Amino acid sequence: LAKGVGELVEQIGRGKISVFIAGGLDDLTLGTDPNMVRKMLNAADNPEGVLVLMDLGSSVLSVEMAIEEMQEKQRSRILVCDAPFVEGALAAAAQLAAGSTIQEAAEEARRALEPKITQLESSAKSSASPSIKSEVAVTINNPLGLHIRPAASIVQTARRFKGEITIRNITRESTAVSAKSLNAIMLLDVRKGHKVAIGASGPDADQALRDLTALISSNFGESELSDPIRSNYHVSPSIPNSLTGIPVSPGIAVGPAMVVQTRPETTGRREAADPQLEWTRLCSALDSSSRELSSIRQQTVKHIGEYEAAIFGAHILFLDDSVLLDSLRQLIFTERLSAESAWHTKIQAMSSNYERSENPMLQSRAADLRDVGNRVMSKLTGSITSQTTVAGQPFIVVATDLTPSETTSLASPDTLAICIARGGPTSHASILARRLGIPAIVGLGENLMKINNGTLLAVDGEIGRVWIAPDAVLQNELETRQKTWLSSRQSFNSARLKPAISLDGRHIVVSANVGNLEDARSGMEFGAEGIGLLRTEFLYLNRQSPPGEMEQIRTYSEIFEVVGQNPIIVRTFDIGGDKIVPYIDFHEENPFFGSRGIRLSLERTDLLRTQLRAILRAGANFTVKVMFPMISTVEEIRRARAFIDDVGEKLQTERLPMPRRIEVGVMAEIPSAALIAEMIAPLVDFFSLGTNDLIQYTMAADRTNPKTWPLADGMNPAILRLIKHVVDSAHNHGKWVGLCGELAGDPVAVPVLLGLGVDELSVTPPSIPEIKALIRRINIGEVRKMAKLALTKESGEEVRNMVLSRLQRN
Ligand code: PEP
Ligand code: MG
Repeated sequence: LAKGVGELVEQIGRGKISVFIAGGLDDLTLGTDPNMVRKMLNAADNPEGVLVLMDLGSSVLSVEMAIEEMQEKQRSRILVCDAPFVEGALAAAAQLAAGSTIQEAAEEARRALEPKITQLESSAKSSASPSIKSEVAVTINNPLGLHIRPAASIVQTARRFKGEITIRNITRESTAVSAKSLNAIMLLDVRKGHKVAIGASGPDADQALRDLTALISSNFGESELSDPIRSNYHVSPSIPNSLTGIPVSPGIAVGPAMVVQTRPETTGRREAADPQLEWTRLCSALDSSSRELSSIRQQTVKHIGEYEAAIFGAHILFLDDSVLLDSLRQLIFTERLSAESAWHTKIQAMSSNYERSENPMLQSRAADLRDVGNRVMSKLTGSITSQTTVAGQPFIVVATDLTPSETTSLASPDTLAICIARGGPTSHASILARRLGIPAIVGLGENLMKINNGTLLAVDGEIGRVWIAPDAVLQNELETRQKTWLSSRQSFNSARLKPAISLDGRHIVVSANVGNLEDARSGMEFGAEGIGLLRTEFLYLNRQSPPGEMEQIRTYSEIFEVVGQNPIIVRTFDIGGDKIVPYIDFHEENPFFGSRGIRLSLERTDLLRTQLRAILRAGANFTVKVMFPMISTVEEIRRARAFIDDVGEKLQTERLPMPRRIEVGVMAEIPSAALIAEMIAPLVDFFSLGTNDLIQYTMAADRTNPKTWPLADGMNPAILRLIKHVVDSAHNHGKWVGLCGELAGDPVAVPVLLGLGVDELSVTPPSIPEIKALIRRINIGEVRKMAKLALTKESGEEVRNMVLSRLQRN
């Protein structure tokens, strides 16, 4: 397309215009490459300026990305024109050929569609679609969403009616498409749990809506657990058609498997004829492993980060350990073992010691030991221990588990997804995948390893499912989803580090909900402007005794360092409810209504004191704020505050550093606290709405019970009224209100929350770019009216429909 238009422009320009083509990913593949755009812009740069014309979609993004990294001076010479590509380019060419400036040419280009519109006006009018009579919203509940079969059922049903039938994906905020077109429906990328709106016009609109809603509500005849694709293709009977694991990093991928096979380790006590020779061989293997590790370390710092690189520093130190070297020397010279056997014996003994430990930290050291062990062994035997590449094409990694070096070596654009048989959400592979935005599933089970290298796989990292040798239909479907996912991610991500400023100029702070150091890192990478909720429970769980002051200081300091001078809200421990620890005696019939959060803190003041000391000490040079969970009375906040004052005074007496001033806030997550917010406001600096709990306690709907989830809609006017009350009370006293429940990451809820006056949103790291992008499309003045109307509705469903139809109109 670009080449064709370029040729026409050159003809019109008659040698007076230089044309630079930046279309296609290469000579054969459609698409746009930001690097190529940048190269062409550099080549075209000249004092009179460069006019950029592009078609839709990825080309716009590529141009934005190419320009983003340029020096201001060069950028000022570039005019990116939003005119239609073909007509605009021809109009601009005519102007430039006649001696106009690029600004004049751009203006002419923008008007380039006018003649065509005038010409076609009458036919356009006659083909305008009749307005939709009514719409209903329904949730899609079948496991794979609107894949080809359910989409076909919708088309068949819709085609029985004369009027226009439309469908749109409310969750993805898509525009309405014809429900009579299979392709159009597939492109909506409707997943399980998404809401869609069905619209109908014409005399039989009501019947059409009834039939389509009934079809969707029956889950298209699929049972919740059935896999509609399963029967459609055949693979080896010993391998299931799909495997389900723990989703640890979202996204979709389709590609060949690259199976990382760890070769059997060398075993046996092979005796050595010449100990000196064996010792020299071992020393040289250690030496070359060490050099290799230094180079991997440097590469990792450069391409991934200091944190991931640190593990290789530890490996180098391990190889240089004098105790280890002494015992190896003894095995070789006294027991006359070969270098391989001595090394194998030592690594085996040490790693099984670590494996037997109950401490998960020590257990994970065993993987490091095996990793470094394999490296040295491969030097001794001259073989590689695992295969980590497939010839020159993108792949999906399949492995039992990945060692740190395997994981980092896979951090390349060729890695489409990672599937792990074992492992957990905190394994190296999971962490790295999340940070790099690679879809990943762990805990897929040992069947995963029956897959052969090169087998086609389709991976859905959102639901934790991998399909083995999918048929063409499923493959197509996932590839379409993959494209949609990649393009929306690219557009959100390119602006993730910029502040979220609404259309009417209001900066809404978007922070991260963080539950450990890794989340903090990922939050900052996804563009967080601070931590809106640091859940500190991770320090207390999975152990036999509570964490001490120094341990806590170390952990908080690491997290604070990552966030720098951005605000950090540390919530004191919210143990209790479903977070039970062995060193506190909980014997409660209803733990969610028992001693949890601040109640427990005020019983176990020893734990509260230690935590507050650690937060204040670690926060000496940071913008740290303290927040108390589960406040239900004014008295609790008075007592809790008194502890902060007391701890602060003691630290001063001990001459220990602490922040000069510390803001104190409360979670508004129990209805009583929301209702008396007017009384709490003078005692605090801020509120954070904890809608996860606020909803469960207001609606009496257990947040862990799937049966009551339909009741637990944060858009229910009961919840919205509580939110409004908290916001108004806080604002009356000059205090601000954040929202850190899951509701803050719900794109339909965000306009209403901002309309109600919420000042800050705190969400899980991967949602940050999308929520920021959404805020940039909102006019706060407008959504205030919408929020007011929402308060008068009867149900969450009504509020959602209202919001969606208004957004649609604007
Ligand atoms: C909440 O209740 O909304 C909240 C953010 O706290 P948690 O989910 O940790 O209970
Ligand atoms: Mg809570």
